[in-house]
Amino acid sequence: MTRKNKVQVFTPELVFEGNNKKFYTSEEENCLIMKFKDTITLRDGTVFKMKGHGELRNKISTILFEYLHNFNILTHYIKPVDESSMLVRKLNMIPIKVVVRNIAAGNFCDRFGIEKGRVLDQPVIELYYKNNTSHYPFVNEYHVYALHISTPEEIAMITRMASKINAILRSFFERRDLKFVDARFEFGVLGDDIVLGDEISPRTCRIWDKETNEPLDFERVRFNMGNVKESYSEILRRISI
Ligand code: ADP
Repeated sequence: MTRKNKVQVFTPELVFEGNNKKFYTSEEENCLIMKFKDTITLRDGTVFKMKGHGELRNKISTILFEYLHNFNILTHYIKPVDESSMLVRKLNMIPIKVVVRNIAAGNFCDRFGIEKGRVLDQPVIELYYKNNTSHYPFVNEYHVYALHISTPEEIAMITRMASKINAILRSFFERRDLKFVDARFEFGVLGDDIVLGDEISPRTCRIWDKETNEPLDFERVRFNMGNVKESYSEILRRISI
């Protein structure tokens, strides 16, 4: 009689859950399974649920991370896991959101009194402190160093990387008849490296149709414009070509 070998099945365990994603343990060392949730959380805390939202963000992020790898940009992305999850490297996140703006939109227009849609002469980089409240304050380097949020070396690196990533993605979208209006990036530390983390999707970027300036991103939810799934799918269709 032969004794059957017991096959050990790995069961991922939840490590932490954010508003929009869940992170699970993985079999690979120092890696996490990042699962995109179907929720859409707006700045004021309102939460919407849309079936398929997680899957679309996962697929869009996958294409963009893979594209960035061609330009030697370090990202946390390793490989797809399933329709709504990807395997990523676990990072020690820097609590700063780096916003890069190519075209004036959102609160930038209110703050500077300029019209929505104005193409900026050069990209504008802004830093927001990801503190424990939902209102991430706008900070400059004085705040960052005085409050020990990050170091001059890290800020130099993340702003340089954000600027390069923006240039790469802006022309990538341009060739697909899409305007890369602005984007929010998050970076983390892995050993001696600074690595792009989180997601790159219509939840974190403003993306407009080049001809009509129609927003195809999270603003459709914010302004109750409808066709959210169709818009995200249209972005995915164009960037898949
Ligand atoms: P939120 O919308 O509340 O920022 P998310 O659900 O989108 O949260 O993401 C959860 C958290 O995961 C974020 O704070 C983000 O900084 C962090 N994160 C993203 N990528 C990684 C990573 N590779 N390793 C560790 N933490 C990460």
